[in-house]
Amino acid sequence: MTSVIDAHTHIFSPEVVRGREAFVGRDLWFEQLYADPKALLVTAEDLLRSMDSAGIDRAVVCGFPWHDPGICREHNDYLAESCRASNGRLVWLATVAPAEGAGAGAEVQRAAALGASGVGELNADAQRFDLTRPADVSPVVETCVDLDLPLMLHATEPVGHSYRGKGTATPDRLLAFLSAYPELRVVAAHWGGGLPFYELMPEVAAAAARVTYDSAASTYLYRFPVFRTVIDLVGPQRVMFGSDFPVLRQDRFLRRVRGVGLSAEESAAVLGETARQVYRIPPSPAEAAA
Ligand SMILES: [Zn+2]
Repeated sequence: MTSVIDAHTHIFSPEVVRGREAFVGRDLWFEQLYADPKALLVTAEDLLRSMDSAGIDRAVVCGFPWHDPGICREHNDYLAESCRASNGRLVWLATVAPAEGAGAGAEVQRAAALGASGVGELNADAQRFDLTRPADVSPVVETCVDLDLPLMLHATEPVGHSYRGKGTATPDRLLAFLSAYPELRVVAAHWGGGLPFYELMPEVAAAAARVTYDSAASTYLYRFPVFRTVIDLVGPQRVMFGSDFPVLRQDRFLRRVRGVGLSAEESAAVLGETARQVYRIPPSPAEAAA
């Protein structure tokens, strides 16, 4: 059986996990999501333990969309170090602050040299950039295109219930961004805020052809048939299982995804192969030995 990859998780350094109050004062979005001490923050060790008990072999880890480039850099260093120590089980995406301009492009380059598999999860609301003014993000995008790194964006629904962290990165805004940067490979998190449903429109399908969707936090947003529906719309090669751990428990979520009735081929893609392709994840030592 092929490895299961969770394509969307978040980890923090022990310093942030233990000292969250200090960071609440330094970042508005972090305050919104994590001022509540019951909102879970986890380290790489916590994630690996959860993966072990869920039967998840590998994970793509993100940090947090900090507004301050200095905190982004520190977080990237923690991710690089954690992944290096994970024996190939964890790969990471770099967080950069697009508002920093050229410095953000330089951080993408630094992160790539440290082994990052992509950039993200960037968040237009948290980091105060405008998806409909793509020039804001040019240094980041151009560096991603040069280095062939995918960019993972937080995305959200223009309709439905409101929740902490929902934001305004809706499909119309994502489309404006996509048309400005046709060469960029994009991962639209959280089912792209519903963008795959609009892919029934040919011009939207054309603009989104280079987008891959992940299922982060799915159960807070959609019923489980969303897996069947989106796979039917865009194909399993553009859909990735991602929990948004610790937002969702990996064991329970994986069990339920396995229960939605995907074919063996669809499961293999969604539970690992798509992520392997998108993030160019090399075989881990365990996989190479198998
Ligand atoms: Zn996320």
